[in-house]
Amino acid sequence: MAFTVAIDGPAAAGKGTVARALAVRFGLRHLDTGLLYRAVAAKGGDPVAAARGLSEADLERPGLRSNAAGQAASKVAAIPEVRAALTEFQRRFARQDGGAVLDGRDIGTVICPEAEVKLFVTASPQVRAERRWRELGGDLAEVLADVEARDRRDSERAVSPLRAAEGALVLDTSEMTIDEAVARASEAVLRALPSAPGALPPDPQDI
Ligand code: C5P
Repeated sequence: MAFTVAIDGPAAAGKGTVARALAVRFGLRHLDTGLLYRAVAAKGGDPVAAARGLSEADLERPGLRSNAAGQAASKVAAIPEVRAALTEFQRRFARQDGGAVLDGRDIGTVICPEAEVKLFVTASPQVRAERRWRELGGDLAEVLADVEARDRRDSERAVSPLRAAEGALVLDTSEMTIDEAVARASEAVLRALPSAPGALPPDPQDI
């Protein structure tokens, strides 16, 4: 049975953490789609050819999690042919038997608008920059400038810009602990999985 949790949001908002926790809790496969764009940029050369020929080994290249790799990824991610080359793989992953959780920028809007659960995980730029800085070090003011530059590129691009999907539950994690964010996301999954153990009644807002 296909069951998709689509998680979108800006860099360092906590999408990956929430996605991994949901995958473990509900036994879903997880795909960090940002890694695809990071790997395309890291391959160098023509990004369209890199996206068309992307392999599993490319996703294991060292350094893909760095700030520089994220910036480079957001540049190739604005190229429509790059996005098109990665779409089919993500759609198949999303609708596989047994269920999947994908995190990225356009999962609920473009890749899988039919997802059973859509979340938009966000936080203030300041909070996100501090998180990245604690994780990767460097100069905080520069990390904040990078976060803001990437937000702009991701939100203003013509193709698949970052925005909350229709019907997405917005989770602003600025003032939340990881456990709180995961608990809120889990409630949304439980509401969509009526047969799950401990399933919750529908949200009164949805009735
Ligand atoms: O999520 P992460 O920081 O790894 O993403 C790196 C970049 O890849 C983002 O800034 C964005 O430009 C791009 N991306 C995207 N669509 C996705 C996932 C990532 O455009 N689904």
